[in-house]
Amino acid sequence: MAQKILIDMIKLRAAMVENSSMVLPEALFYPSGNSNGLKSVRELAIFRFTCRKCEDAPCIGVCPADALEKDEDGIITRYTNLCVSCKSCVTICPFGTMMTDFFKHHRNRDLFFDLEDVNEVEKFIKACPPGTVTFTDDDESPEKNIYKLNDKVLIKEYLYITEKQ
Ligand code: SF4
Ligand code: SF4
Repeated sequence: MAQKILIDMIKLRAAMVENSSMVLPEALFYPSGNSNGLKSVRELAIFRFTCRKCEDAPCIGVCPADALEKDEDGIITRYTNLCVSCKSCVTICPFGTMMTDFFKHHRNRDLFFDLEDVNEVEKFIKACPPGTVTFTDDDESPEKNIYKLNDKVLIKEYLYITEKQ
């Protein structure tokens, strides 16, 4: 994929509030390239940028399956192969960080798109609520709330920052 995509988490949340029964399409990278299971770009973005990285991380403490782990930067990873979709972490999170739908195991496979395939990327953009995912030539731009997830994906999100770096 030559061009990057920009996923606007702010607009995605608004679209979900407007239509709470909407099932969002998911972008994934196949193969996952890690040992903690295949997961969507949206989940990666939420844990990286939306999560407030609580020091005591109550989500980890409540998980009955030891499926959540925090790295040295405070970023949570969910081991999808351990997660039993109980959603206790969603309930206990004081900030409503997580969108509950990415905990569902059985979803319509037609809603999963491979970001390594340019045709799939185009289909993914079309399947998303209008204006929430776009092609972009931009780079990371914190003043516009745009951050780099990886070489192919930029995320627009409001970051929770407690002090100036
Ligand atoms: S939904 Fe998964 S990650 Fe969350 S508490 Fe339950 S088992 Fe743990
Ligand atoms: S409780 Fe919520 S905000 Fe806090 S670390 Fe867990 S997911 Fe992030």
